[in-house]
Amino acid sequence: MKIETIAIHAGNQLDQGNKAVIQPITLSTTFERAEDGSYPTGYSYSRSNNPNRNSLENVLAKLENGAAAAAFSSGNAAGMTVFQSLEPGSHLICPDDMYHGLRNQLKNIFANKLEFDFIDLNDLELVKASIKPNTKLIWVETPSNPLLKITDIAAIAAIAKKASVKTVCDNTFATPILQRPLDLGADLVMHSTTKYLGGHSDVLGGALIAREADEWWLKIKQIQEMGGSIPGPFDCYMTVRGIKTLPYRMKGHVENAMRLTVFLENHPKVERVFYPGAASHPQFAIAKKQMSAGGGMLSFLVKGGAKEALAVVNNLKIFTQATSLGGVESLIEHRASVEGPDTKTPQNLIRVSAGLENIEDLIADLNAGLAAI
Ligand SMILES: *Cc1c(COP(=O)(O)O)cnc(C)c1O
Repeated sequence: MKIETIAIHAGNQLDQGNKAVIQPITLSTTFERAEDGSYPTGYSYSRSNNPNRNSLENVLAKLENGAAAAAFSSGNAAGMTVFQSLEPGSHLICPDDMYHGLRNQLKNIFANKLEFDFIDLNDLELVKASIKPNTKLIWVETPSNPLLKITDIAAIAAIAKKASVKTVCDNTFATPILQRPLDLGADLVMHSTTKYLGGHSDVLGGALIAREADEWWLKIKQIQEMGGSIPGPFDCYMTVRGIKTLPYRMKGHVENAMRLTVFLENHPKVERVFYPGAASHPQFAIAKKQMSAGGGMLSFLVKGGAKEALAVVNNLKIFTQATSLGGVESLIEHRASVEGPDTKTPQNLIRVSAGLENIEDLIADLNAGLAAI
C-alpha cells in the first residue's frame, strides 16, 4: 500500500459486529478474562494496551516503516522514556539546537544520571571525536527547531553503527510523509504527534517507532507500561483521525511555506530566511537527499532586534502569535522569548508554522506586519 492509503486505513481496526466504518472509542479500562484466566483478545488493562492506542501504534509503525510503535501522552514523555531506558552513566551526543524541552529534561532531570554533550551534528569529524567508551546514543533532530538546520541522518547513523551506538531521530518537523529516518539507518524515530500528525492543535501526544523490536525496545515498552505515560483512548482516536489527512495536509503546508519563503527572501526588511526547501539553505543538498520536500516550518531574521521582531508578530491578523506548530492555522512566534534567558536563538528570529489558509491572505498579512517596522 502507498502512504496515502496507509494513512487512511492502517489505524482503523473494524472487528465489531455493527459494520461501522470508523473504529469506535473504547473507554473501558479493563477487559474480561476467559475461564482459564487468559485474555482472549490480548487486551487486559488500558495502561498496558487499548484498541484505540493499538490502532494508532499500527498506523505509526507502518508510516515510518518500523517494526513496532508506542504512543505516548506527549512528545516529551516519549523522549523521557528513551532517556530512562539508558543505563546510569551512559553518554549521549545531542544537537546543539535540540528542542529546548528535551534539552531541559536532560539538564534538569538527568544531570546526575546521564552524561551528554550538545554539539554541531553537521561537523561529522566532531561527532566521531565525541564518541566515548560509554556513548550509547546519538540524538538527531532534523529539520531542527527553530533554525531549521538539517542533519545528514544516514551519515550520523553510519558513524553510530560503527561504534555500536544507537541513533534516535526526532522526526516531528518532517513527518514520515517527507522523511523516513529508519530507512536511512536510524534505530528509533521520535514524534511529537501534537504537531503535524494530530494536525489540528487539539490533541497532545508523542510516539516512538523502532526499526527492530529488540531488547532495547522491550525495555522502552516496559518503562512506559510501568510508568503509565500513555495517551487516553480519545487522544488516540483524535490522532488517528488527524493522520488520515496528513499526506494531503503536508502538500499544502509545503506549498505555503515555499511561497512565504520566496516572499520573505525578497522583502527589504528581512535579513535572512531559513527554509530547508530553498536553495539558499546552507544544507539544501542534504535536505534534497533525505527529504521529499522542505516541510511547513520556516524561520526568518528581521532587520533589527527583539523589538522589531516583536513588532512584526504583534501586527498580524491571520497568523496567531502562539507556540507549537503543525496545525491547519498559521502560527508565528518570537522564539527567543519562549526559550528563556539561556537561549542561543537570535533575538531577531521569527518562527513560522505555515498553515493551510489561502497563501495570498498570509502574504498580505505578513506584508502589513513588516510595514510596522
Ligand atoms: C513539540 C516538540 C517536542 C515535544 O513534544 P510535546 O508533544 O510538546 O511534549 C519535541 N520535539 C520537537 C521537535 C517538537 O516540536
